[in-house]
Amino acid sequence: MSESGRLRIAIQKSGRLSKESMKLLKSCGVKFNINEQRLIAHSDNMPIDLLRVRDDDIPGLVMDGVVDLGFIGENVLEEEQLERQQLDKPATCQKLRQLDFGACRLSLAVPTEFSYDSAASLEGLRIATSYPNLLRRYMQEKGISYRDCMLKGSVEVAPRAGLADGICDLVSTGATLEANGLYETEVIYRSTACLIQSEQEQTPAKQALIDKLLSRINSVTQARE
Ligand code: ATP
Ligand code: ZN
Repeated sequence: MSESGRLRIAIQKSGRLSKESMKLLKSCGVKFNINEQRLIAHSDNMPIDLLRVRDDDIPGLVMDGVVDLGFIGENVLEEEQLERQQLDKPATCQKLRQLDFGACRLSLAVPTEFSYDSAASLEGLRIATSYPNLLRRYMQEKGISYRDCMLKGSVEVAPRAGLADGICDLVSTGATLEANGLYETEVIYRSTACLIQSEQEQTPAKQALIDKLLSRINSVTQARE
């Protein structure tokens, strides 16, 4: 299917990375109209198709070579990479560049009444997270054992609901933590959005288009700095 010659780019359908990803493509001169009902948007002026999916699906689509490029948060990319390494699935892609949006950090946080000295204070306790692999890597490096509480959503309410002692979740301002009676104790990973490319060999025409896009992205983002 990707033999159609059109470049396939995966972007988040709706969420924190969608608007900025589309804005960046538009400022690179890629024209397209989004139909909310449609998974694919075809560009009118370049041989490019946009695939609009959940952000969690993007690293896998790129690593499996289903799409050529993807806009994704490094946090989701690295979590998926760690997961796939364990499953012996293709787990590599090229990071073409970091982008200047989607900045956030993955942090440990505990209830305000918790007396916290260091990550070792969490020894043997239960930690709720949607990022089990990034958490495990961090805790293994520190030599701390803990118990998992895997949640895809509502992580920040887990301590109050009695499901976990602390959490490991994404933070940008800290307002959500505060609203849930939690405070940030340790940053375990810093992330921004990035542009990734599949390892699959491209036709010269497609690679030339990727190079052109990347050079435009470089000019656009440099102008913003
Ligand atoms: P989807 O429906 O596509 O799965 P989602 O709910 O998983 O969406 P968003 O909340 O839209 O995802 O976040 C997408 C990405 O935006 C995160 O993975 C992260 O890289 C970045 N991000 C930036 N700031 C934040 C924040 N404060 N909280 C969560 N994610 C953030
Ligand atoms: Zn998601």
